[in-house]
Amino acid sequence: DLLLQVKDLSAVIAESKQTILKGVNLTVRHGEVHAVMGKNGSGKSTFAKVLAGHPDYEVTGGSIMYKGLDLLEMEPEERAIAGLFMSFQSPVEIPGVSNIDFLNMAYNARRRKLGLPELGPIEFYGYVAPKLELVNMKTDFLNRNVNEGFSGGEKKRNEILQLAVLGAEFAILDEIDSGLDVDALQDVAKAVNGVLTSKNSVLMITHYLRLLEFIKPTYIHIMENGRIVKTGDISLAETLEREGYKAIS
Ligand code: ADP
Ligand code: MG
Ligand code: MG
Repeated sequence: DLLLQVKDLSAVIAESKQTILKGVNLTVRHGEVHAVMGKNGSGKSTFAKVLAGHPDYEVTGGSIMYKGLDLLEMEPEERAIAGLFMSFQSPVEIPGVSNIDFLNMAYNARRRKLGLPELGPIEFYGYVAPKLELVNMKTDFLNRNVNEGFSGGEKKRNEILQLAVLGAEFAILDEIDSGLDVDALQDVAKAVNGVLTSKNSVLMITHYLRLLEFIKPTYIHIMENGRIVKTGDISLAETLEREGYKAIS
C-alpha cells in the first residue's frame, strides 16, 4: 500500500541553479496524513512544487515513485490525472464562472483523460451534492462565482471540495491554515477530515500545532535546509510550539 516514495531528492531553481532540496526522503502509504513543518525558507513549498512538477525547479538527483510509476517522468498534467492534487496558496477568483460549472469542467477534464464519459450538469449535481456535506458547505455555495467574495476559510474549504470532486489520492496542502482565525481553521480541518479515507493521503505543510491537533497526522516531519531532518508524532509539534525550532535541531 505504498503510495509515494521519495528517495534522496535534490532540486535546484531552474533559472539560477541554486540548490534548494538537498536529499529529501519520505514514504507515504495509503490513508496516512503527513505534516511537514519547518522554518521559513527551509524548502517546504519547493518540495511541494517539485512533487507537482512545477517548471520553476529542476530535479538534479534522487527518485520519486508514485503508485509504482516514476513521477519524475510524468508531466504535471499526467500527475494530476494520476490523482495528485496540489492546493494553491492564493486561489484565483474567476468572475462570471459559477463554482459548480468550474468544478464540473475540472471533473470532466479528468474523466476525459481517463476515457470516461463526461457528466452533464444534472448528473454532476448528483455527484457533487453529497460532497458538500463533507466540507460543511451549503448548496448555494455552488452557485456563487469561483472564489469571488469568499472568506479565507471558504476559499480553503472550496479547495478541499475540489480535492473531493477530483477524487485525489494524494493531496498536497501548502499552508491551508494561513490567515485563518480559530473557527475557520477548525472548519477547514473538519473539511480535510471529511474527505480523508483509507484510500487517499495528505501531505500538509503548516506552522501551526492547532491545525494538527484537529487533523491528527500520522507523522510530523521537520524540514531544515532542504532536508527532512526529523520525523515523529504530534509531540514533535508540541515541543516546537513550546520551545521553538532550536529545541529539535
Ligand atoms: P518554505 O516554503 O519552507 O518557506 P521555500 O521552498 O518557499 O521555503 O523556499 C526555500 C528557499 O528557496 C528560500 O530561500 C526561497 O527564497 C528560495 N526559492 C524558492 N523558490 C524560488 C524561486 N522560484 N526563485 C528564487 N528563489 C526561490
Ligand atoms: Mg514560506
Ligand atoms: Mg512555503
